[in-house]
Amino acid sequence: MKKILIAGGGVGGVVAAKRLSEKLKDKAEITMVSDNEKYEFPPFFANVALGDMTPEEVGLPLSRLQSRGIKFVRAKINKVDPENRKVLTDSGELPYDYLLASLGIEYDFDTYNLGSGYHNFTLDGAIKMRDGLSSFGSGRLVVFTPHPMYRCGIYPFEIVNQLDSAFRKRGIRDKVSITLVHPFKVPIEPLGSEAAKITEELFKQKGIEYFGGLKPVKVDSQRKTVQMEGQEIPYDFLITVPPIRVPSPFVGTSLTKATPMGEWTDIDPLTGRSKKYDDVFLPGEHSMPTLGLPTAGVPVHFTSLASSSVISGEILGEPVDPGQINAMVCAMDYGDLGLVINCDISQENGALKWIGNCYSVLTSPLGKYVKDMFYRSFLLTSM
Ligand SMILES: Cc1cc2nc3c(=O)[nH]c(=O)nc-3n(C[C@H](O)[C@H](O)[C@H](O)COP(=O)(O)OP(=O)(O)OC[C@H]3O[C@@H](n4cnc5c(N)ncnc54)[C@H](O)[C@@H]3O)c2cc1C
Repeated sequence: MKKILIAGGGVGGVVAAKRLSEKLKDKAEITMVSDNEKYEFPPFFANVALGDMTPEEVGLPLSRLQSRGIKFVRAKINKVDPENRKVLTDSGELPYDYLLASLGIEYDFDTYNLGSGYHNFTLDGAIKMRDGLSSFGSGRLVVFTPHPMYRCGIYPFEIVNQLDSAFRKRGIRDKVSITLVHPFKVPIEPLGSEAAKITEELFKQKGIEYFGGLKPVKVDSQRKTVQMEGQEIPYDFLITVPPIRVPSPFVGTSLTKATPMGEWTDIDPLTGRSKKYDDVFLPGEHSMPTLGLPTAGVPVHFTSLASSSVISGEILGEPVDPGQINAMVCAMDYGDLGLVINCDISQENGALKWIGNCYSVLTSPLGKYVKDMFYRSFLLTSM
């Protein structure tokens, strides 16, 4: 029986586990390896930071996959070794016939000295941010995004709007100013002019200050300022959005390639298959920059389904249409309002193209609940 190893128990790994077990029950030996015994759903970390969800609500135990016949191994992966068809972990080696890896990204808190701020890019970080916010009653809150490569492009624009609503509910909005520092001159630019216009108008209405396109230097935690070239922005409460890089198990392997946006894993756009190794599929966030797609869960989900279909098709000897993504829906929670923006993605000559044709499907207070329902049901039906 073929051995399939799924590396990473996050969005891409869990989507693959469900699909592969449905297609290949008793026809393949499926193992998942991850360093966390829970599937944690990162979009909910913001809800934890804002006090809307408890830490227990944002994840599910990966041991549940055992009922689908999938073996779960908790271990930290140190290296992927595609030449020898194995993954090296802190508790030994795991061999495979097929590897499907979706290991997310790693955060860089050092380059701009971001460690002194709060963030909700991990569950621990979200809990600390929740506690920090609960004792913050007045002053200047700054959200600092120094670099365009970060996890989830819509996040900085969502969090400032969500904080505006949270401070209004607490009756302290007039005592708190909110500033967003971001590399884009125009807010949320890649989602098109409609989303940008709505966002700019909301910032104006809500009194959210936006500094776009300045060159970042670093956080000066002694002086409590964000230093930009030619400008210093003081803060009382700092939230940071860290730059990202490829996960270390891929570094030094021939699975990555250098791109203008850094080193990332290299895959076939329609199937998620490694360009170098036929038995390796890498649908995780670490491959999205080479595809020119956003570093977000939606394209990871589709790529993981495409990879799983190809693997099961090959094992069963059935031809498959991998069904890769052709449109991306971004559901955004702007506090008192939700936006659902659709962006078309074309497939031409075996490549994916972000064609920038984005338009609002829904801009309404209801949009917020659409996002909430979509994400809750995504998690609850994931296994
Ligand atoms: C605050 C926030 C809001 C977000 N909002 C949205 C949104 O609205 N829409 C959207 O599309 N996306 C959103 N995202 C992004 C989305 O969560 C990610 O793009 C998605 O989770 C990536 O999937 P992945 O499988 O590649 O990585 P992950 O889901 O991060 O999973 C990686 C898994 O691999 C494991 N792992 C990592 N390294 C190792 C190792 N060395 N050894 C063993 N295991 C390891 C991890 O523990 C984890 O289980 C958001 C993210 C955050 C943080």
